Amino acid sequence: MPIILKKPEQLLLMKEAGKITGEALLVARDAIRPGISTKELDSLIHAYILKCGAKPSFLGYGGFPGSACISVNDQIIHGIPSHRVILQEGDIVKVDVGAIYRGYHGDSAKTFAVGRVSEEAQRLISVTRECFYLGVDLARVGNRLGDIGHAIQSHAESHGYGVVRKYVGHGVGTHLHEEPDVPNYGTAGRGCRLYPGMTIAIEPMVNAGTAEIKESSDGWTVRTADGRLSAHYEHTVAITEDGPILLTDVGE
Ligand code: MG
Ligand code: MG
Repeated sequence: MPIILKKPEQLLLMKEAGKITGEALLVARDAIRPGISTKELDSLIHAYILKCGAKPSFLGYGGFPGSACISVNDQIIHGIPSHRVILQEGDIVKVDVGAIYRGYHGDSAKTFAVGRVSEEAQRLISVTRECFYLGVDLARVGNRLGDIGHAIQSHAESHGYGVVRKYVGHGVGTHLHEEPDVPNYGTAGRGCRLYPGMTIAIEPMVNAGTAEIKESSDGWTVRTADGRLSAHYEHTVAITEDGPILLTDVGE
């Protein structure tokens, strides 16, 4: 599948999908507290997306059973919402949401602290967010994907963290996952060149320990191999002549 460049009117639609996606994350953020289950969070996200006239992109995608992926502590991504997973004080929780509205998807993820978390956990969350912003600052016409990946990898590794390799960012549009892959690692000056109208999810997944991962027996949840924490931060971004536009950003 080729890279699909979006026209300005398509970017406007994607901004609407992105706004719903970002707001659904805020709904989750405001509900996160010790004692809530990840299934309850998922239900709130689901209801909010429907209320906006959109549909959850993830529900049924490849058979995924939730409207959001909710991953706790050493779970990196693709955690299945569950009544049995109750958030505890000190946990970190990754909420990854997609919404499709008038044919276009938004995709965004953030890592939230549950109550008070360790300094180590807070630093991992902050550095992962910084990785995203260092990467997106290079998401400019004429640059290459390797510039983004290199910036993310360098910042994460300068803190002794590991960058997940197997799972990467991606194009977003009428499909949740489009070309190109957007790795969170790479070599500056290499890779696909960036053109106006490209819409990509930039989504660093950063492990406190090594980059190694393991897949869980539930067929979805991806964890750190060493059992240490992982953080995730994602926005859908449009490449324009005026610089990157964060389509899913509705504030922190
Ligand atoms: Mg996502
Ligand atoms: Mg994504």
